[in-house]
Order: sequence, then C-alpha cells, then structure tokens
Amino acid sequence: MELGKALDYRDLAALAIHHYKEMLDPDYHHLPYFFAKIGSDESFAWHSEWDFGDAVGRFLDASILCGEIVGDRLGRDAEERLKEALRWMQSDEDGLFYRMSNDWDVPAGANMFDQRSVFLGLLSWLRFDQEEEARTRIERMLKGMRSIAVERDDYICYPFETYVPGMEVPDRIYTEHGFIVEPTHYGGGVFILPLAIYYEWTGDPLAAEMLEKLTTFIVKHSRVFEADGSFWSKGRYPDDGHFHSKMGAVAGILRYAAIKQDRELIAWVQKVYDWACGMGSTYGWFPEGTGLNGEEPVDERYRWLPGIIQHSETCCTTDMIHTAIYLAKNGNTACWDDAERFANTLVASQVRDVTWAKTVTDKPDTPTRTYRDVPQRYRGGFTGRMNPNDFSNRGKVDTMACCCAAGGRGLYLVWDNATSLNGDKLDIQLWINKENEHVKMEYEVPEAGVLRIQPKQAGDLRIRVPGWLSTDAIACHTPRRQRVTLSLPYLIIEGLEAGETVELSFPAELVKREEIVAGHAYVGAWIGNRLFDVSPSGVMPMNKALIMK
Ligand SMILES: [Zn+2]
Repeated sequence: MELGKALDYRDLAALAIHHYKEMLDPDYHHLPYFFAKIGSDESFAWHSEWDFGDAVGRFLDASILCGEIVGDRLGRDAEERLKEALRWMQSDEDGLFYRMSNDWDVPAGANMFDQRSVFLGLLSWLRFDQEEEARTRIERMLKGMRSIAVERDDYICYPFETYVPGMEVPDRIYTEHGFIVEPTHYGGGVFILPLAIYYEWTGDPLAAEMLEKLTTFIVKHSRVFEADGSFWSKGRYPDDGHFHSKMGAVAGILRYAAIKQDRELIAWVQKVYDWACGMGSTYGWFPEGTGLNGEEPVDERYRWLPGIIQHSETCCTTDMIHTAIYLAKNGNTACWDDAERFANTLVASQVRDVTWAKTVTDKPDTPTRTYRDVPQRYRGGFTGRMNPNDFSNRGKVDTMACCCAAGGRGLYLVWDNATSLNGDKLDIQLWINKENEHVKMEYEVPEAGVLRIQPKQAGDLRIRVPGWLSTDAIACHTPRRQRVTLSLPYLIIEGLEAGETVELSFPAELVKREEIVAGHAYVGAWIGNRLFDVSPSGVMPMNKALIMK
C-alpha cells in the first residue's frame, strides 16, 4: 500500500478556512448553510434552523483557530462578516442570540444550544482579536442566561429548548422519566464548556456561580448519566443518547473540574469517558447517538433507535479529543495516545477530493438553497455521518456545518496542546508537524521513522514516548552528546541551547489491528498512532481519506 506523505495540519487548516469563507450566504447576513449534499448526480447546500447562532458561532471560532495553526489569518474578511451576523442576532434587551425572521420557516427565539456555539465564537474573538466588544457581548449574554435560568435547590437549569420573551416557563420541570427537555443539549449542559473556558481566563464571579450550579444539575439531577458512566438513550426525546451534546457537556465539566482540581469530579469524567470510548473506535470514529440498549423507548416515536448508531459526527471526535487531552493534562498521561489516535478521524473526514462530485450549473440559487460551485466551495469542510470504514454514509456524503466547524476546532486542540512551554521547559506531548514561536517539530511518518525537535529558546526538553513505541527501540541524537534520561513516559534532555535540534529515530512499521466498532469487526492499518486504512472497505474507502497525496 502506498502510504503518501507526512501529515501537516497547516494544509488541513488552510483548506478548512477555504470552506468557512466560501460557504457563507452573501444574500442573507452571511449565514453558513447547515446542510449540504455532495453527490455524483448533483450538489447543493441549504439553510436550516442551525444556521443562526450555532453555525455562525462555530464558523467564527473554527476559522480563527485554523488561522492560528496556519500562522496567518486567512479567513479574516469572512470572520468580520460572521461578527456582523452575531451583532445582528444579539438582543439589546436580554443579550441572548436569536434566530431571526427567515424564508425557511424557523421560528424566532433564543435556542439554548445556539448560545453555546455563539459563546465559543465570542471566546476566540476575544482571545485572538483582543477586542473588548467580544467581552461586552459575553457579559450581556451571561446576564441574560442567568436571568432566564430556573433555580432549584443547589442548581440552575433551562427547562425549554428555545426561549421566547414573555413565554411561560413550566413549573413542573421533571416528568416521571426525567427532565422535561434533553438536559445536555438544551438544559444547560453544553453551555458549561465555553463557560468554563471563560471562567478560566477571567475568574468572572457570575461565570463561577453558573458553572457550579449547571455542573451540579448535570451530574446530580439531570438523570442523563448512570452510575457506571453510561448514557444510553431511553427514547425520551429526539436528542436522547446524542453523543455530541453528552461529551460536549462532559468536556466542559472536565475543564471546570481541572480548574478546581476536584479529583472526585475528574474521576466522574474518566468513568463517562471510558464508557464513551467503548461506543466508538480507537481511531476517533464515534457514533452520532448511542441508541436504545435493548429497552423499550419511553416514547413510541423513538422506537427506531436500537443499539449504537452506525454513522458518526465529527463533533463527537472533537469532544473526545478535548476530553482525552484534559484527562491527560490532569494525570492520566495514557490519554495523550487516545487524542493522537482520535485525530485520525479528523483527517479522514475532511472533504479534500471533490473531483467525483457534480456541480449543478442550470439552477439558480434561491433564498434557502445554493447550487453555485458547491463541490468546489465545500472543499475543506469536515463531513459528518461517516461509517467506521467509509468516508460516506453507505454511499451518501452526509454533511453538516456543525461537523465542518468541529473539525477545525479539533485540529486546533491537537495542534495547540501538542507542545507547551513552562518557563524554560518545553514539553512535547503529541507527535505532529508544528511550528510556532517556541518550537519547530517535524514528524516524518510514514516517509521515515523520525521525530525532529528544535526548541527556539534555551532550556530543557521533555518528550513523551507514545504507548506504541518501546524506549529501547528509539535512538536519540542530541547535538552535543547530552545525556538523555528517562522518567516514563518522558525522555528528558537538559540544557539545550536555543535552536539546537534533537532527533529521535525509530522503526516505523505498518501494523494491522482488529477492533470491534459499533458491533462490527474492522482491521486498521497503523504506523504508531497514525491510521492509513480500515478494512473491509466501505463505499468510499478510508485509505483515500487517510493518506496524504
Ligand atoms: Zn456535527
């Protein structure tokens, strides 16, 4: 098998920005199109209810983050348009972000999931553009979110999917089967992640209060997660068992637990994460939903949901990478390997080759649908709903804007956390190609078994040895024959001068490994933590999606 060239996230991130720029609707406030069909018969994209706060917030976030990877903010013009869309959607009265009047019959209102995605966009706007406007908008949204929260005992929650001013908030917020709406999707769960990041940066007391009370709601009162960490659907709501909202909330709870160094809460997250790992693959494929576990659904309408859903969401991959990285940072260093392996699905899900797709040239765009150059414009997005061995969902390229943006965010999480500088100590956790102001790192697999690291400042270097590689198999070349010490899982080289290079060489052999994914057996072809194929092949084989030409 031809294995192609080494992976460079800069190429993937630059292409992702192309997608974020091109998929905005110039005739409607530059909102992205949430759904798209990329097909050999026709290709088009269309608007949905998720194009407002959810897609705009996520696209802004992902475009900025991918610009950081590339080292050049290629998407800046589009980002300014997305900021303008956020200004348009934020209410002067309550600070919440609203779905506005539209031609595709979406009711107006402030959807609870949307607030979370907007918050992520505002955070990247604040951190990387350092514009106070973003902070002001966050503060107004937080006040609005606090004022509409329902408070009971030791927690707050949102017992509605969409807030509309003047609406009657139900007094009875539980039924006999659980909370009145899906607690992580709408009840406040997914809001915890951006809230925790904001609190980490600012120490804001309102954020602190909301974090504590929303976390208490999810962990102690929501009845989403069982004592063993499981979150099977019970068939209560359409988003019951929805993996992304569960693990998105869990990633947020972990960020909060890490700030507080709450070991009990970190252990709770580890338990949910371990269970969630069993729902997917070691290479980052995770199902859109967990489905029913042999039980009858609470609501007859959800009878169609047996077992583990056979298609993915890239959103889930990014949530699992996020959780793995923060578990690793908080003591479980084996989770670095999980994050590195999960990133394979980010690579596999990116839409890079569209030569097979048909561009529709004989239909004009409508207010709800675009045909113009859709395959070409779509390049760089991350498809959702892949099968474990198939770029497509049984022949259908089934994609969503949430996943397109989650892919960019996932790349950034891996790229950003791959290295860290603390004083004069440089840590290498993930083996990728990366260059920033502190380090140049070259990882040559599959072309060669080489990792080359050039710190840009004098100091000590710690390199994490991945679980797949024995330290005995590594030859470490230091520039002045410095001593290499081992403190597992790290190799340590002290006293490097700025610009000196350390090179590790090791055997890079293709290994085949079988695993059960969502109930079916697949064989992966790996070198270390990088995946090159999954067999048996699906309709659109994974090797085409995994190998860099
Ligand atoms: Zn998604």
